[in-house]
Amino acid sequence: MESICPIDAQFRDQIDALLKPPSPGHEYFNQLIESSQCRGLKIKTNGEHGKGVYADLDFKEGELVLKDQMLVGAQHTLNKIDCLVCDFCFRFIGSIELQIGRKLYIGLLTDSESNRQTFSHTSKDCNEFDSSDGEDKSDLYCQSLAECASSSSNTRSPLDQEVIESLVNEKLVLPYSKCFPLPSVVSCPGGCKEASYCCISCAEADWNSSHSLLCTGERSKSACKEALHKFIQHANETNDIFLLAAKVISSTILRYRKLKVICQQEQGKQATPDVLGNCDLSLLLEAWKPVSMGHKRRWWDCIALPDGVDCCDEVLFRMQIRQLAFEEPEKVI
Ligand SMILES: [Zn+2]
Ligand SMILES: [Zn+2]
Repeated sequence: MESICPIDAQFRDQIDALLKPPSPGHEYFNQLIESSQCRGLKIKTNGEHGKGVYADLDFKEGELVLKDQMLVGAQHTLNKIDCLVCDFCFRFIGSIELQIGRKLYIGLLTDSESNRQTFSHTSKDCNEFDSSDGEDKSDLYCQSLAECASSSSNTRSPLDQEVIESLVNEKLVLPYSKCFPLPSVVSCPGGCKEASYCCISCAEADWNSSHSLLCTGERSKSACKEALHKFIQHANETNDIFLLAAKVISSTILRYRKLKVICQQEQGKQATPDVLGNCDLSLLLEAWKPVSMGHKRRWWDCIALPDGVDCCDEVLFRMQIRQLAFEEPEKVI
């Protein structure tokens, strides 16, 4: 009684092409190394150990060998309680006072339902540093952080709310905190409360690489913000690896769109209208190239068996997850 997902049936060839095992890809990796302007490194395949980074120069002590841009990254939802970091480069932002105050504040929220009410009024101070807009979508985010806090810790803050608020608002200065300056918080250009940055260039880079499609703010480029809210909530309640997967998909879509614009411009010049229909998959594969260099499997084939599922029930478990993904694609995609 195995069902076939309609998307699978319609795009079988494309899906197979996207999930193909990685090729050696030496040319791709060597281009990456070249663009990072690091000398003396090569990617080679060794029959015994597989692919590896090799040096053909001696390096001096302290010399920078390789600086690489990460493909995608995400902060664990649970970790957001403890640390406010740039959503692109992940460095700490704000101030020592803000970092400590915000953690205490979220802890305070878990005390009672009435405190949660208070938090919704003051959440701008915690996550949003531009108090100019009216619509506040941060409640869901703050609430999920508070729920995470309540499930992860039973500690209750002995400090009163006023002290915590003056920490969050950076009105109270802790001793020696100026010895550890942090970059000021830059808000998301899309106007959401979920993403904060260390500088405008990180905000723009994240927006252009993936966040514009995943932002819940008023200037989001998402086709359906309602679905996006549900997706984020689902990921936070179940497994936040979905958020990382969404970044991979979003960055692929945005790369594809840029390639398509270039392709259309070139076609306009050369006046060969028939080519576009055929080149879509090749453009998609080009946009997918950074991901194609890694090993990929479908979610139901690679998800770890949860505790309580015996390994002799593995086949059944994977079939059930697959079924769930096909039956409720709006929750999974
Ligand atoms: Zn940054
Ligand atoms: Zn945003």
